[in-house]
Amino acid sequence: MSICYEYGVFRQVTHNNVQKEEPDLWMDLADCWLSENHDESEVVMVGDKTILAIPHDMYVTGYDNWGINNLRLWEATSPKIIDMELFSRGKYLESMEDRHHIEVISKILYPEDAHLEGKILRLSQQYFFVSASMKSMARKHYAKYGTLSNLHEKVIVHVNDTHPSLVVPELMRILMDEYDLDWDYSFDMIKKMVTYTNHTIMPEALEKWEITMFNSLLPRIGEIIAGIDERFRRRISKYYRDQIIDEGIYIINNGYIHMANMMVLCSGKVNGVSSLHADIVKNQLFKSFSQIFPAKFTGVTNGISYRRWLCQANAPLTRMISELIGTGFLKDAELLSDLLPYQDNESVLTMLSEIKRGNKLRLIEYIKNNNDITVNPDSIFTVQAKRLHEYKRQLLNVFHIIDLYLTLKDNPNAPIHPRTFIFSAKAASGYYIAKQIISLILNLGSLINNDKDVKDILKVVFLENYSVSLSEILIPAVEISEQISLAGKEASGTGNMKMMINGAVTLGTLDGANVEIKEKVGDDNIFIFGMKAEEAEALSKSGSYNPLTAFLEDKDLSRILEFISTGINGVFFNDLLTSMTTGFNGPADQYFITKDFQSYKATEKMAEETYKDILKWNKMSLINIGNAGFFSADRSVKEYYKNIWNGPNL
Ligand SMILES: *Cc1c(COP(=O)(O)O)cnc(C)c1O
Repeated sequence: MSICYEYGVFRQVTHNNVQKEEPDLWMDLADCWLSENHDESEVVMVGDKTILAIPHDMYVTGYDNWGINNLRLWEATSPKIIDMELFSRGKYLESMEDRHHIEVISKILYPEDAHLEGKILRLSQQYFFVSASMKSMARKHYAKYGTLSNLHEKVIVHVNDTHPSLVVPELMRILMDEYDLDWDYSFDMIKKMVTYTNHTIMPEALEKWEITMFNSLLPRIGEIIAGIDERFRRRISKYYRDQIIDEGIYIINNGYIHMANMMVLCSGKVNGVSSLHADIVKNQLFKSFSQIFPAKFTGVTNGISYRRWLCQANAPLTRMISELIGTGFLKDAELLSDLLPYQDNESVLTMLSEIKRGNKLRLIEYIKNNNDITVNPDSIFTVQAKRLHEYKRQLLNVFHIIDLYLTLKDNPNAPIHPRTFIFSAKAASGYYIAKQIISLILNLGSLINNDKDVKDILKVVFLENYSVSLSEILIPAVEISEQISLAGKEASGTGNMKMMINGAVTLGTLDGANVEIKEKVGDDNIFIFGMKAEEAEALSKSGSYNPLTAFLEDKDLSRILEFISTGINGVFFNDLLTSMTTGFNGPADQYFITKDFQSYKATEKMAEETYKDILKWNKMSLINIGNAGFFSADRSVKEYYKNIWNGPNL
């Protein structure tokens, strides 16, 4: 269940090498998949507003089976179209004001929340869809069983990140205020029926609400949360009398309501999304909780819908695989391992290489049409496509490109295999440094792509408006999959899996699911560099790292710094450079780009050298495809069913 947004995350355009956000009118096309279901509308109270929640259902079919799931999206509408009394007094705009205040709730996905109005709107959105969903669930259950006291035996409510976390107090409210169950019984039921996945440890996703703002919008919900917190505090002081308990575990502290704490306390199971992330969730993020409830914590490694990312997006490769191993892999991704016996078969490896070339040519045409850049099909397609965030370290990739560029400027005959560096990324509209990085990539591209000295050797392409549709063209053409986040920061990643199953070789850090990709393909079929998660965490905690020393002492880094600081195309990136040298809204170089740079550069060189042996490269590619089966979402969903939701044997 979610919200039926009128506008999704913005459509990105680039103007004068700067990101601009435009409305994303996704409904224009996708509307045809939704069916409005007025019979199941719910009336929801958000603050003093009465809202009519209308469900729009999207039916999601299984592959070659009879299963159909329903993705239910709620639209916020006003039960009252117009205030006739105000209208007849000539107050035309005022007569429709209430309606607009209500409809704004499902107007736009992720509205800017840097200001109070934005925060109130987001909280209203969350409560709106949670309340509609829980009321409708309770109503259906009651209609069938005549009671809610067995609700926990029939349903699981799974909470993804903290955005739907109000299900906990809203369910308490429904069970107690609307169906007359008592506090203890309701709370026990909730712990049996609610489960929670943490998808990132970035602080901006661990939501907290200022308590007075929260209580003025949702007083009853605030009262219930306070009750949960109070009872938890009482239990802690009773059982852990002599121990010093970390204040950070309470739901309410320092004037804020901490939603992740509430989820951990009130869920039956809490999971991370890769084995490394599950470990960090348990032993760092919620360390104090895991000492109290060790058995709650577990992990389920993410997966991808490979029938989209392989079978639909890459028909030529799917055809080749079917001819070699049959079509069983369409239903059981683990059967992709039947490809592995072909890893030394030259004609298979040559076919694989030709398929990749075909996909590269298709992307080259897209790039020609959209960016008017001519790309060399013999160049190595090195791709970093993901949201723009400092922790994902697109800037590390940029530093390496600048290093190659300056090397070629010094010596046009430097032995560098032709390379095309492709980026695609949206930056959140209020994320200033991320937008600077996009500008840097765009300006660097303008400079390099028009420099006669580097001609066919280096190209830098930024594909605007990263989205699933664009990914379907991009990912089948990837050769080097850049997964270079600071170790410990990327919870799982799924872009890494999509690229792997399309025969790309990962070049990355030991972060998120890269760790498991390495375990599957073996050390020889992946390029790993940089600090490990514990090293990065220890260095971060020590607070002793000074990137200025690195910039001064490392010749490569100092010439990169000088190159950027003298301006690119006459554009300066002062605040971005400040973030790297002395700090801008945080510690300097907090994601340790300068620390990992030399290890990254050496690993890029190694990948480039390996690529020259085309059979060896395609053997690595085939081994990646053959080991990608584990990363199917079919496997993830089965693990959720069995280990998180305790589903009966099928
Ligand atoms: C897969 C995908 C992502 C996630 O990419 P990561 O590399 O895992 O961060 C983001 N956006 C789109 C459009 C995707 O298809």
